[in-house]
Amino acid sequence: QPRYLIIGAGVVGSSLADELTELGCTNVTVLDRGPLTPGTTVMTGGSSSHAPGLVFQTNGSRTMSGFAQYTAQKFAALNQPGTLAFNAVGGLEVATTPQRLAELSRKQGWAKVAGIPAELLTPAECVALHPLLDRGLVLGGLHTPTDGLAGAPAAITAQMDRAISRGAVFVGDQVVVEVLQRGGSVVGVRTADRVFHADVVISCAGFWGAQLGELVNLVVPLVPMGHQYAKTTAIEALSAHRDAGRGHADAALPILRHQDADLYYRQHGDQIGIGYYGHRPMPVDMNRLYAATAAETMPSMLPFTSEDFDPAWTETMRMLPDVASAQVVDGFNGIFSFTPDGGPMMGEHPDLDGFWVAEAVWVTHSAGVAKAIAHWITQGTPDIDLHGCDLGRFADAQLQPDYVADTSAQGFVEVYDIIHPREPRSVQRDIAASPFHGRQVAAGAVFHVGRQWERPAWYESNAPLVDAHVHYPVDAWAERHWSPIVLAEAMATRERAGLYDMTSLMRLEVKGPDAATFLGGLLTRTVDRPVGAVVYALLLDARGGVRSDVTVARLGDNHFQLGINGPLDIDWLRRHRRGDEVTITDITSSTCCIGVWGPRARDLVAPLCSIDLRDETLGYYKAAKARIAGVDVTMLRISYVGELGWEIYADNTDGATLWDRLAEAGKSVGAVLAGRSALDVLRLEKGYRSWGHDMTTEMTPDEAGIGFAVGKKHEFLGKEALAQRPTTCVLQTVVAVDPDAIVLGGEPVAADGAVIGHVTSAAFSPHVGRTIAYVRVSPDVAVGDKVTIEYFNRRFDFTVSEPVLVDPAGDRIKG
Ligand code: FAD
Repeated sequence: QPRYLIIGAGVVGSSLADELTELGCTNVTVLDRGPLTPGTTVMTGGSSSHAPGLVFQTNGSRTMSGFAQYTAQKFAALNQPGTLAFNAVGGLEVATTPQRLAELSRKQGWAKVAGIPAELLTPAECVALHPLLDRGLVLGGLHTPTDGLAGAPAAITAQMDRAISRGAVFVGDQVVVEVLQRGGSVVGVRTADRVFHADVVISCAGFWGAQLGELVNLVVPLVPMGHQYAKTTAIEALSAHRDAGRGHADAALPILRHQDADLYYRQHGDQIGIGYYGHRPMPVDMNRLYAATAAETMPSMLPFTSEDFDPAWTETMRMLPDVASAQVVDGFNGIFSFTPDGGPMMGEHPDLDGFWVAEAVWVTHSAGVAKAIAHWITQGTPDIDLHGCDLGRFADAQLQPDYVADTSAQGFVEVYDIIHPREPRSVQRDIAASPFHGRQVAAGAVFHVGRQWERPAWYESNAPLVDAHVHYPVDAWAERHWSPIVLAEAMATRERAGLYDMTSLMRLEVKGPDAATFLGGLLTRTVDRPVGAVVYALLLDARGGVRSDVTVARLGDNHFQLGINGPLDIDWLRRHRRGDEVTITDITSSTCCIGVWGPRARDLVAPLCSIDLRDETLGYYKAAKARIAGVDVTMLRISYVGELGWEIYADNTDGATLWDRLAEAGKSVGAVLAGRSALDVLRLEKGYRSWGHDMTTEMTPDEAGIGFAVGKKHEFLGKEALAQRPTTCVLQTVVAVDPDAIVLGGEPVAADGAVIGHVTSAAFSPHVGRTIAYVRVSPDVAVGDKVTIEYFNRRFDFTVSEPVLVDPAGDRIKG
């Protein structure tokens, strides 16, 4: 039995102890710097000690919704008479603006996808549920009856007791000051006066997570932030709403969100608790923590700054007029973690075996996160899609202190905002761009952002190409961060050619005598092919789920270039390198890439190119070194848009020259500069998948419709598991019946009135004249079937089509 040691007995650490012991792990020790007195309710002084515990389950991420659903159900089962770990009072989110009202119906769609009951309410119904609301201000609401209040200390205590009954040991007043290591593995921790030996250490230190990370040279990108919470004095109107029926007088009214003003509310007996996210971001200087807070007893509570709370109080008196006769009491600036993308931090240290992290987790998601990481630690692979939670998901540029600080602070500011799915980040812009950036700015590029990279979404200089006769759905939401120029660029690519900046596509060099066998053991297709071959293959996890899709070009006997999906792929390859004589080098920042695609691509490139570009010499899925306009390049005859052409790679220093010469030559064939938004349209028309959306580890290659990328002959990671794994879903292409129908992604898909899946990607196609989408649905859905997709409060009919809508035979791409 491995020895597990958990740092932190907050709601995450204690849930994890419960989950590990549930899985049969008997040697589990939990340490906390705060007190852990047996027989009392646990209050260690961390965030969980005073979290008001609102659990709103619905989230745009299915994974996060799933964490919350599990937490609510698990905590409800821990309830004892008089001590509720979960009080299912329901959740009510109200709208005071038309935009929020629309957002609530979008959110209802997410709830449907996750299987969370949620109903849109009229203003009168909102007030009937929460009589303190001012009827005149509310335009409508979303009611989720299974939402409620988690009693974090009660849940911690119950889970601790159960874990102890299964053999776990909890020790309080132990500050971990060192993580002990030997030969690249963790062997224990040291506190002020004791050493605890362990094979696996899991840091569940909440907002102390970055400090714990520093002990092991690990950047844990989270920022402790102050967040205001206060109560009112007793309110007469609440006395009628105390809940004797539940045997728990604390709260009977639903938890309430008034997100248009960054506010939330819960009942505490005859008082109302008010949480506020509208104040300035208050990042916490951890070096001054114990001096600034109530010291060791409650280090997570900073003194209340009432001036920051004034707008919240004014708005609360407007929204809940009955509070006007009360005063604000018990206010504090509580501390908890914010992260660059709002997701939690889960996973194992890349260089220190056995050191794990489960941090930046809300009470709402705590038990779900604990269950998932317990499975991951004990089985070696997560059983759900965790790519949005994985500690390894950030590029180095995203781990820099300024990036972490600014994006996390912005996460605080936007926590209740309505965020468009295409909305580019507003902070930490212009931190990385391709060498053509200046040219793109001059051409009127509108930039969106992918990780650290500025990427043209479309070019305003192409506005004259917009054809007024091309019909597209008119919809204010769908047209945000979008332009009809996107369609013009897509059409010009299919008709003539487009130049695409593909620099942000991450790429690696894998070199060394073992390179071919190393890659072959991980990839679903063998790469042991002649120099110059390019292969599209998948990385599977140990359960046979799709971890990534990559292109691999063999550039020399011991030299491969991989186009990958992101930092998680680098992490995966490095973790599996053990013993193999290979070097893995990220060459993304030192090189650039231009995609030249379209029927006239050869006419454009060939006159500048040192090698023969005919099919016979550089055919489809072939790579070659060449010179273009005097610049040394690597050319890969592949395309994510489904047209003839190449990904052309060069050193950064030559990038601007290459761009200029290609752009100049492009004029003679009518080529356009084209952005990522056109690319997305074209790849959907061609049936190409996008990892993280259309495929994740939750899907097998067949389920994702890319079974063709799995070879039969060689052995690779995940092969056996794949053979055993049943088919539980399928990715289908659907086409809107109505030319005015639009969806963007994430919406529920229904058949015969029942939700059967969700949209993974979508775009309006100018070539099909309809919105096309990929839907992840139950496996019995077949070509020709009709489905309905809900977009806000509208319902659109779609027909399941053949997977590829444009050039299914691939004639165009083969030239
Ligand atoms: P913690 O509860 O902070 O536990 C971490 C533990 O690690 C602590 O007990 C600490 O003592 C221990 N520790 C740290 N360093 C060491 C060390 N070196 N050695 C030993 N032990 C160590 N979430 C919701 O879901 N809903 C809400 O309504 C909500 N409202 C909130 C309101 C406020 C005012 C605040 C502050 C937070 C709120 N949150 C809410 C967030 C939520 O409280 C936290 O995200 C959650 O409690 C974090 O749990 P945790 O177990 O990770 O951290």
